[in-house]
Amino acid sequence: MKNSISQIKKALIEKKISVSELYDEYLVKAKSGNNNSFNLVIDRENNISSIKDSQNRYDNGNPLPLDGIPLGIKDLFCTKGIRTTASSKILSNFIPNYESFVTQQLLNDGSIFIGKNNCDEFAMGSSNETSYFGPVINPWKNKNSQKDNLVPGGSSGGSAAAVAEGSCVASIGTDTGGSIRQPASLCGIVGLKPTFGSCSRWGIVAFASSLDQAGPLTNCVEDAAYILNSVNKHDFNDSTSSNHQREDYLIDMNNSLEKKVKIGIPSDYLEDVSDDILNQIDNTKKALSKHGIEFVDVEFKTTEYALSTYYILAPAEASSNLARYDGVRYGVREDGESLDDIYLNSRTKGFGDEVTRRILIGAYVLSAGYYDAYYRQAQKVRRLIKNDFQRILNEVDFILTPTTPNEAFKIGDKLDPISMYKNDIYTVPTSLAGLPGISIPSGLSKNGLPLGVQFIGNYFEEKTLLQLAALAEKELSFNEQ
Ligand code: GLN
Repeated sequence: MKNSISQIKKALIEKKISVSELYDEYLVKAKSGNNNSFNLVIDRENNISSIKDSQNRYDNGNPLPLDGIPLGIKDLFCTKGIRTTASSKILSNFIPNYESFVTQQLLNDGSIFIGKNNCDEFAMGSSNETSYFGPVINPWKNKNSQKDNLVPGGSSGGSAAAVAEGSCVASIGTDTGGSIRQPASLCGIVGLKPTFGSCSRWGIVAFASSLDQAGPLTNCVEDAAYILNSVNKHDFNDSTSSNHQREDYLIDMNNSLEKKVKIGIPSDYLEDVSDDILNQIDNTKKALSKHGIEFVDVEFKTTEYALSTYYILAPAEASSNLARYDGVRYGVREDGESLDDIYLNSRTKGFGDEVTRRILIGAYVLSAGYYDAYYRQAQKVRRLIKNDFQRILNEVDFILTPTTPNEAFKIGDKLDPISMYKNDIYTVPTSLAGLPGISIPSGLSKNGLPLGVQFIGNYFEEKTLLQLAALAEKELSFNEQ
C-alpha cells in the first residue's frame, strides 16, 4: 500500500525524509509521464519557496495540516500564474491571474502542487478520451490481455491515474455526474463527492453549475478526510456555497459509528449486473454485517429516468456556461472577416466533438419551442429523484451501490455516446439529488481489475459517511490484496 498522508507527515516530523526529497520523488514520477496523467508538471523553481517554508515549519515543530504533501490538481481549477486548460484547445493558452477557492485552501494548508491533471474536455466524459491533450492510460492492466491500454474513467481520469501510479499523494477533482467516483473505482482508489454546496465552485471552470462539486481522490479514506478538512469551507464568492457548520472529519474517523446503522441496497440497481459487480456488494455486506450493521432491500422508483434527466440538464447548463468562450475574452482566437466569423471559427476549432454535441443539445432543450417539453420537464423529474432519495433515506442511514456497471474498458471501446453515458448510471442519481457519495475500492474483477462500491449518505453527513467508508475499507482490505 502507498503511504498515507499521516504516514508521510510522521516521516517528515521524524526527519526520515525532507520535504524536498519527498517532492522530488513524486516529481520524477510525474515527469516520466507514462500514463499522460498530467497536462502540465509544474517547474521545480515555482515550488522552491513553498518547499523551504514547509521544511521550516517542520523544523520549528509547527507544521500545517498538509505541509509538504505533493498534490495533483485537476486541470479545471484556476491556478494563479499556472496554465489552466480544462483539457480544451479553446483554453490551451489560458493563464489565470487568480487562484480558485479550493486550491487556495490547499495552499494555505501547506500542500505543494505537482501539476495539473489531465481530464475530459470541460469535464465532459467518462473515460478521459475527450481531452485535447490525448487520453490518460489506466496504470492497471487486464491480467488476461496485458498489452491493452485501458481507460482510467473520467472525467477526473488524470487525477485518478496519477494517485494510482504514485505521482502525487492525492488529487483534487470535480464531480458533476460521477467524475470523481467513477475514475476512483476504475483505478482502485478512494473518491469522495461531497454534498453540493460544501466546497466552493469559485475559480473552477464551470460545466453544470447546479451539479459541479469539488472533492478528493486519494489512496485511503483517511486521506480523503485530510483533503476535505482543508477544502470544505464556506465561501462568500459562491452563492451556492452552504454556510452550515463544518466538522473536523479526521476526529473519531476510526471509531465505530455511534449509533446502530441501517444500510439500504437498491434492488433496482442490481438487475442485470455481472457477477463481478454483485460480488462487490456481497463482500461489502458480509464485511460490515460483522459489525452489527443491518442491510435491507430498498427500491427506487426513478432510476430509469436519471440518465435522461441528467443529459438534458447538464448540457443545458453547459451550453449557457460555455457561451463565454467566444475567442475574444478568453483563450484561443481564430481569425475571421467579421466578429461573427471570429466567434464561429474560434468555437468550431476550439471545442472538441463531445463538447460541441452538448452545446447543441443544451441550446436545443433551452430553446423557446422545446423548453417546456425538455428542460422544464427534466427539472420536475429531478425533483422526483430528490424526493425518491429522501423517502429512502428516511428509512435507512446510508445506501450501498456499485460505483460503476463495469471494470475499466479498452481505450476506444465505447466511443458511441450512449454506451459512454451508461457508465454513470450509479453516480448520476446522487448528483441530481445533490447528496454526498464516496467510492472505495472493494475488490478485483475476474480480469484482475479494481472495482468499487459507493456509499451514499444524507445531506452534509460526510462525517459518518467517512466513518462508515473507513470501516468498510479496513474490513475489505483492498490495499493488502
Ligand atoms: N460522465 C459524466 C458526463 O460526461 C459526468 C462527468 C462529470 O462528472 N464531470 O457528463
